[in-house]
Amino acid sequence: MELQLNNGVAMPALGFGVYQIPPEDTAAAVAEALRVGYRLIDTAAVYGNERAVGEAIRDSGIPRDEIFIETKVWISDYGYEETLHAFDKSAAKLGVDTIDLLLLHQALPGDFEKTLAAYRALEKLLASGRVRAIGVSNFMVNHLQTLRRNTNVTPAVNQIEVHPFFHQRQVRDLNAALGIVTQAWSPIGGITDYSGNGTTSTFEAETIRHIADEVGRTPAQVMLAWHLQQGRAAIPKSVTPERIAENFQIFDMQLTSVQIAALDDLETGQRGGPEPEDLTLETAGKDIPEA
Ligand code: NDP
Repeated sequence: MELQLNNGVAMPALGFGVYQIPPEDTAAAVAEALRVGYRLIDTAAVYGNERAVGEAIRDSGIPRDEIFIETKVWISDYGYEETLHAFDKSAAKLGVDTIDLLLLHQALPGDFEKTLAAYRALEKLLASGRVRAIGVSNFMVNHLQTLRRNTNVTPAVNQIEVHPFFHQRQVRDLNAALGIVTQAWSPIGGITDYSGNGTTSTFEAETIRHIADEVGRTPAQVMLAWHLQQGRAAIPKSVTPERIAENFQIFDMQLTSVQIAALDDLETGQRGGPEPEDLTLETAGKDIPEA
């Protein structure tokens, strides 16, 4: 199943995320994902595992143009020249000439000029054909509005935290109005499980378990079907082969409108990840090594 981006490029709706997979385990996980059918891999410069992603893609024997590679520029590399160079670092680590989708990982609210300069570098990379599509991640309504006022190319994707406990409806509505695909990170609520902030994990939620029983599938599959049926892209992560396969077996599912509404009712308003508005170079800066 593919989604059409606003520049005509087709992107798989379901991809495989590799955040928190140690570099030494990444190639095996990506190889397994490709083996069971995923054709989109989501990584980031700051995850430290781009090299292993590239290795698994090359070793898979699958033609390069059948795999959609998505990575992100970290805030420490923002600025026009710096971001052009960040592309070179990521492309070299991945071992590719072209990146399918390059995102700004976060807005830098305290230095939005730098964020804009980084985005202008993405526009340049798009124009020169080094990337096939550009976008952003963790951009809130005000960030998107400022970006649109000051740059030319509408982002193709905004990758944000969305799972049954946290919906970001305002950001999603603005994405939709601007023709930006919402791509859900932590789509099955991983962050409600591993963040240790005391929330019940989505996997334990009674409503989700109940729907899973009704449709004879697992909670993760129900959550992923909920995203896809509402037109969102999703990038679940797992290092467990059975789960990697399970999370891809969702294309024959159809939730009822009642089931979708029940999932929509689980919104808590509580973000699992850091508040995007509070991000600074001082607290979150991290040197991204040369290739
Ligand atoms: P997910 O919602 O994908 O959940 C991952 C967690 O759920 C892991 O602990 C995994 O365990 C477990 N899990 C996976 N499948 C199942 C299953 N079928 N049943 C039960 N448990 C399961 O959360 P992530 O936070 O990892 O997000 C996914 C991706 O989103 C990331 O890898 C990254 O690519 C992207 N992301 C982007 C961010 C951004 O700022 N742009 C921030 C966070 C994530 P195990 O691996 O042990 O199987």
